[in-house]
Amino acid sequence: MKHHIAAFSLFVLACPFNAAAQQPPPSLPLAVAGVTVIDVRDGSRTRHATIVIDAGRITAVGASALLRIPPGARVLNARGKYVIPGLWDLHTHIQNQRELDVFFPLLVAHGILGIRDTGGLLPREFRELGKRHQYVPHVVACGTAVDGPAPAGVADAAIVDSLADQGVDYIKVLSMLPRERFLAIVARAKQRGLHVAGHVPIAVTAAEASDAGLRTMEHLDEILLNISSRETELRAARLAALSGRTTFVDQVLIQAFPPIEPFLSDWSDAKASALFKKFVANHTWQTPTLELYRVWGAALGDDPLFWKNPNLAFMPKDWHDSWRPERSQFLSGVPPSERPGVILRMKAWYRSQLDVVLRMHAAGVGFLAGTDVSQWNFMVPGASLHDELARFVEAGLSPLEALQTATINPAQYLGITDSAGTIAIANAKRISAVVLGGRLLDRTELNRMFDSARQRAATEATP
Ligand SMILES: [Zn+2]
Repeated sequence: MKHHIAAFSLFVLACPFNAAAQQPPPSLPLAVAGVTVIDVRDGSRTRHATIVIDAGRITAVGASALLRIPPGARVLNARGKYVIPGLWDLHTHIQNQRELDVFFPLLVAHGILGIRDTGGLLPREFRELGKRHQYVPHVVACGTAVDGPAPAGVADAAIVDSLADQGVDYIKVLSMLPRERFLAIVARAKQRGLHVAGHVPIAVTAAEASDAGLRTMEHLDEILLNISSRETELRAARLAALSGRTTFVDQVLIQAFPPIEPFLSDWSDAKASALFKKFVANHTWQTPTLELYRVWGAALGDDPLFWKNPNLAFMPKDWHDSWRPERSQFLSGVPPSERPGVILRMKAWYRSQLDVVLRMHAAGVGFLAGTDVSQWNFMVPGASLHDELARFVEAGLSPLEALQTATINPAQYLGITDSAGTIAIANAKRISAVVLGGRLLDRTELNRMFDSARQRAATEATP
């Protein structure tokens, strides 16, 4: 990533419809002059361009020589810089005020101006708890995810209704949903005008889930199962291995990192290409969360590079302390003699997922950038999205295609291409400014945000 897109400073320009609606946009227009605008749709560049942002929206983009800058506008000379649209992280978990307080400034300072939360606060809670913040990304949220057998006496439709009545933006489903229940939930969600996204439930084939309208599939879950020539047998074994495991900690190693050999040894090219064709035809997006697979092996495998990452200083100490292999809740049930084997499995899954992404990409399947950043998932908000883009490049996407997974693709998925997802590009790690809802956050302001995140993380008492 660094070598291709990069080496430029850049501006990340906000999704103009932005949730920064919290804060009224500045009364004076802002003109960013002399920039190179790179269109994320095709990578084409427009040099010496000027972008005018008024009342929180981009009102004009054009050649600097021709564009009339509105009287009274604040003009920012951005010669030599590149502009990209605000980035999206399509898989986050923010569950309470403390997490939101850590996440929001770090996301915005890294140019992540939109998130899809995949299990956490409700949209109205995001609005309420975000009120104390100056920097608020756009949030799409599902509240609580739906998983497992139905609670006794509660109809599936009633669960969807209750979430819909609470104002969720979509319905999230998880791996242990029985097939009938999955189909009932998708059907009711459609009636309520909501889409469904999430894990492919193990009991449902990925083809059926795609046909039913599961709009995004997370983590490439169950893909290897679905393209194995021993699919039926492996599915039964997987359901049996997970039955009775009701907590997340209890499930996660078996659900996300089972022994991989049985899946790889019976890979069927014919099944893979039929399934990937279906994803293309149905516009089923994949959110592979590659960085997630990488960091699990790195953190729990005690990789020194992982633990030396300076970005960890932005995180509350009690969070990353709890990530240490010797303290990790995820390894507590694993006897020390078995741990090296578990770590090898995590690394094997990561390598395999890179390969699956490349094969899907060759078949034309669309991707979304999502990280699964959360209090427990070994990642730093914002920074991890840039790492996810690098993972796409590692898998074999071009830098432009990687950038599309966090800009135009999310805008297409969410149906907001008229207000988000395009303008331009460059490497996001060297951000020189962020424009959020028409407000300019210059490098000084961004540094201040990083400093205060670091300071907060260092001084905050562990609850
Ligand atoms: Zn997640």
